[in-house]
Amino acid sequence: MLDKFERYPLTFGPTPIEKLNRLSEYLGGNIQLYAKREDCNSGLAFGGNKIRKLEYIVPDAIASHADTLVTIGGVQSNHTRQVAAVAAKLGMKCRLVQESWVPFQDAVYDRVGNILMSRVMGAEIELVDEGFDIGIRESWERALEDVKAKGGKPYAIPAGASVHKYGGLGYVGFAEEVREQEAKMGIKFDYIIVCTVTGSTHAGMLVGFAKDGRARNVIGIDASATPEQTRTQVLAIAQHTASLVGLSQEITADDVILREEYAYPAYGIPSEETNAAIRLCARMEGMMTDPVYEGKSMQGLIDLVRKGFFPAGSKVLYAHLGGVPAINAYSYIYRNG
Ligand SMILES: *Cc1c(COP(=O)(O)O)cnc(C)c1O
Repeated sequence: MLDKFERYPLTFGPTPIEKLNRLSEYLGGNIQLYAKREDCNSGLAFGGNKIRKLEYIVPDAIASHADTLVTIGGVQSNHTRQVAAVAAKLGMKCRLVQESWVPFQDAVYDRVGNILMSRVMGAEIELVDEGFDIGIRESWERALEDVKAKGGKPYAIPAGASVHKYGGLGYVGFAEEVREQEAKMGIKFDYIIVCTVTGSTHAGMLVGFAKDGRARNVIGIDASATPEQTRTQVLAIAQHTASLVGLSQEITADDVILREEYAYPAYGIPSEETNAAIRLCARMEGMMTDPVYEGKSMQGLIDLVRKGFFPAGSKVLYAHLGGVPAINAYSYIYRNG
């Protein structure tokens, strides 16, 4: 589906699919759980889902003769850390706007984890006191203007690399990769679980899995706590991406399956249940998840298994999108494990 698009390789190649035997058994043994390890997809500063998206965005940045990648996120954004790594790898400058999207007071919140790495990789970081919003931000527009005013040539990458014309392509590729791996493994996944916030990961998967009739088997777990905006953005990106790749069928609002009940109490703040899911997964599988994103989708996965949402015998693929560095900024919560 992606042959006509240029891809700049930033990942190691297809990501491994791992069976979660102990977690599956612990949850009753009727559902077979697997994880596709997007958290291990690249050597660029711990990798993650934004790296897969950026493979289809970087050729456009290079073609534009830009010298500075400009993007935006929260203080502990995984996305901005991945853009900083890609800029370093390409020999470009990087300008990051990091907003206080998360009302969390850990003493070193703005010193450790993702933002620490972005600083070490040489990104120029501006901390801005603005609340959470997945849309286009004024502070980001200002940063673009500022780069220009100083004689640079910026290339704009929106939050999460989502509302970019090529933002959905990477995860169309994910679906194609899963199909190839399924053929080799001799199995087929009945459901795919994905954490959804700015939307292009879920949207790309919708388009990729629509090809074999599985769009509605992609279960988005909202972590934005602004689900209407996220749902609208997923649909818009999916429809745009579908026309870009020439998908023969239409993507409609009914194709966007987004579970809203795990994002509480707010974006970036883990609930007790999220923390329990992080600990359970870590203790059963040695697989770390974070309190902002993957801990919430892990919570959703565990809860849906316990509730009997998946028919017995189902094979469920959890897309592990990365994000573990952020857990360092939540050290007080996990001080006793
Ligand atoms: C960005 C991110 C997500 C959400 O992906 P979107 O494409 O923004 O919906 C989920 N998990 C992690 C670890 C992320 O960094």
